[in-house]
Amino acid sequence: MRLFGNQNSIKKMKYILLTVLLILVGCDRHLNNSGEPISRIVHLKKIFMENPDLISKGFQFPVGKDGSANGYYVAQGFQKRNKRFGGNFHLGEDWNGNGGGDTDLGDPVYSIANGIVVFSGHGGRGWGNVIRIVHSYPQNKNQILVESVYGHVLDMFVSEGDHVKIGEKIATIGNADGLYHAHLHLEIRTDPDMELGGGYAPNTYGFTEPRAFIRKNKDLKVAGNP
Ligand SMILES: [Zn+2]
Repeated sequence: MRLFGNQNSIKKMKYILLTVLLILVGCDRHLNNSGEPISRIVHLKKIFMENPDLISKGFQFPVGKDGSANGYYVAQGFQKRNKRFGGNFHLGEDWNGNGGGDTDLGDPVYSIANGIVVFSGHGGRGWGNVIRIVHSYPQNKNQILVESVYGHVLDMFVSEGDHVKIGEKIATIGNADGLYHAHLHLEIRTDPDMELGGGYAPNTYGFTEPRAFIRKNKDLKVAGNP
């Protein structure tokens, strides 16, 4: 009977430990002022609210002098189906130097807008180094979050948590550890809370065409700014 009791206690203890572990693992590491966990997106919105200078007043291209894209072209557009990737849709745009091949290797990559770096590191095979930045911009009196993803980069000049300005040099064009000719794979995500993914997918939900988005949001009217 005593033995049974002990086993029961051990079972109970195991259960409690497992529950605590699950709570710890399941919890977001972001906390509000009262020390309660908050979601990643709420956490980012809070940083933008506390740092109005971080709100985007406009967007620009990630390559070319002053974000002009001069000297570069899109070799593979958004939504293009690619047979090498199961006929899936391309979720970004591939920016290449006009010179072709690896002539753009090491060229600067600029942040397309003000924002917060949410990832800077290796994205796994096929990605090479990746930088992810979340931006907040005004639309119909609301603040909208959008994310830019810079794939296959070589050098990285920003780290997770950094606040960046539009046009800031964040990386250089790379070739995904030698897998491709050098180019920048740029994604713009209307859903900034997704996994890195694979650059291609059967649908483009949560993604938008970078060129069209950048042109449309080149100059944004921000409250308090003429
Ligand atoms: Zn690509």
